[in-house]
Amino acid sequence: MKMSPLEVQPAAPAHEAGTPPVMLELVNVWKRFGESPAQTVAVSNVNLKINKGEFVTLVGPSGCGKSTLFNMIAGLLPPDDDGSLLLRGAPQRDGQMLGQVSFMPQRDLLFPWRTVLDNAILAMEVEGVPRKLARAKAEAMLPEFGLSGFAKHYPHQLSGGMRQRVALMRTFLFERDVLLLDEPFGALDALTRSFMQHWLLDIWARHRRTVLFITHDIDEAIVLGDKVLVMTARPGTVKSETVIDLPRPRDPSVVTSPEFMHIKRRLLAEIEEESRKTFAQEAAP
Ligand code: ADP
Repeated sequence: MKMSPLEVQPAAPAHEAGTPPVMLELVNVWKRFGESPAQTVAVSNVNLKINKGEFVTLVGPSGCGKSTLFNMIAGLLPPDDDGSLLLRGAPQRDGQMLGQVSFMPQRDLLFPWRTVLDNAILAMEVEGVPRKLARAKAEAMLPEFGLSGFAKHYPHQLSGGMRQRVALMRTFLFERDVLLLDEPFGALDALTRSFMQHWLLDIWARHRRTVLFITHDIDEAIVLGDKVLVMTARPGTVKSETVIDLPRPRDPSVVTSPEFMHIKRRLLAEIEEESRKTFAQEAAP
């Protein structure tokens, strides 16, 4: 059977000419919480490869283990002994991932008593970058993040979109090759969200970091991603990997194209199937 370029395709082997090197690899990663019989298997047998500079989005029903997976990649939670995590091809033992990736959790976690600039430099400060140098770096980035003139404002004086941009700027300023973004636009209204998606794509095109992005929104996953990973109901594992071959840069009108609709229909069916399983799990006594 002939395969359309939008169908699920196996990832190209790293040695193929023109394929960027693998930045992050997960091999048979598991996470179980508690002891049997009250054990929760949050993540099971996750295998994935993310190439350098790739933008990968991750969708799946609530409670399927997405945040647990992120916490393991960020080094905040050790994976179980079964599997391994590799960064630039090097296996990472317990605790070694900590500080190796930039991580933006779901809530923006801005300190209300700190200005925009001082919130933005937080991760650099923790790393020991002198405050003056950190501030100068952050100031230079304000225009790109749409925050010119807001250096001395406090979080409560900002819109939701601006707060997210401060949090993203902090994540970018922590200069790591891999960025983990956990539903950064989940709390924004639809118009701001669409604006922020395209703004993020511009920033990504300029900086070319490797991005792993969690979302509940299928449109968002397709608009942003080079690849969309769908996770199964808990215990979460990768159900499918879809290469998104839509041309870049992506215009907001991409969501109306037949190619987009074709991918969306298939992914929706997959996620609905997994959401039904989650519902059945939750309804079980
Ligand atoms: P998602 O981010 O996809 O909504 P999570 O990773 O937050 O899912 O959670 C996956 C499963 O693991 C859930 O059933 C959750 O209750 C469970 N879980 C997460 N963290 C812990 C923990 N520290 N202790 C026990 N169970 C946990």
